[in-house]
Amino acid sequence: MLIVPECEIANLMTRAAAFDAVEQVFAAMAAGDAYNFPVVREAIGHEDALYGFKGGFDRAGLTLGLKAGGYWPNNLEKRDLINHQSTVFLFDPDTGKVRAMVGGNLLTALRTAAASSVSIKHLARKDARVIGMVGAGHQATFQLRAALEQGEFTKVIGWNYHPEMLPNIEKIANEAGIPFQPVDLPDMIEADVIISITSAFSPSLMADHVAPGCHLACMGTDTKGKQEVEAALLAQATVFTDEVAQSVSIGEAQHAVAAGLIAQSDVHQLGAVINGTHAGRISADQITLFDGTGVGLQDLAVAAAVVDMAVAQKIAIEVDF
Ligand code: NAD
Repeated sequence: MLIVPECEIANLMTRAAAFDAVEQVFAAMAAGDAYNFPVVREAIGHEDALYGFKGGFDRAGLTLGLKAGGYWPNNLEKRDLINHQSTVFLFDPDTGKVRAMVGGNLLTALRTAAASSVSIKHLARKDARVIGMVGAGHQATFQLRAALEQGEFTKVIGWNYHPEMLPNIEKIANEAGIPFQPVDLPDMIEADVIISITSAFSPSLMADHVAPGCHLACMGTDTKGKQEVEAALLAQATVFTDEVAQSVSIGEAQHAVAAGLIAQSDVHQLGAVINGTHAGRISADQITLFDGTGVGLQDLAVAAAVVDMAVAQKIAIEVDF
């Protein structure tokens, strides 16, 4: 068995490799070559932790495995550890033998940022110049850094529920040499691309905050009850997702579907756009919305890529298991 520890991931994994891995696996999912297993997520009644598994099998890439982990809210305060903890396990699909154990914390942020970036590449207008951020927490920095590589952006605008966190994303914009402006939510109308990445349970971004032609990547809603944007916005947009079943049950689309504003059949796989079986954006004034719910196959795809890199660079630890 190969081990790639968390401390090695930052030196190995690149945003470009994460992008390619996620784009390929979204395509495989839409082609029916890869599928996600039902998600298990449990409140374990200890340390207020939420623990679970996200797994799947990619027949095209021959990647089988799962990500195990979750959220331990007391970690930072009590133990100086980050609250989100995860590990990816890969198995040999020919034999069932465990192939690799890979640190999953940084990979989760990189694969989540890659997902919105893939959506921007395939759905945003090519003349998009202003990117709007709703959210300024841990994931937001990864999201913005990756998104800025997907177009010729000249300005970043940002709103956050906790305004004191906005310097987190201002720093990323400045590192890319792009001006940053804090704004109120109605000013998001200036944005050609909007990424929302918050842990909110009620909508911040309303339909009249979004201009025709905008592409939104809604990345924060990954649980029943969470919500970042007004449900009416989904009715105005062409809605895409990583996994339709998750989008309508735990993703941003759950609210619009429950309210009867859209049907499950109105939610399309982003992979179909990648494969050319869905036209994607067909006009400059169409609003497109990617509901990124986060699937196990994304984790497996980036973990498999990082294992290959670790082997090539002789960093992987080999254990007789
Ligand atoms: P974080 O705690 O670092 O940041 C939370 C963000 O949400 C901050 O910007 C905060 O100001 C904002 N926020 C908190 N309460 C709010 C409210 N009531 N209204 C509006 N904004 C509010 O968290 P993070 O690690 O950046 O994660 C953000 C979200 O992304 C979480 O919901 C997490 O579960 C989700 N997530 C999704 C995926 C995916 O694949 N889609 C992957 C990882 C994380």
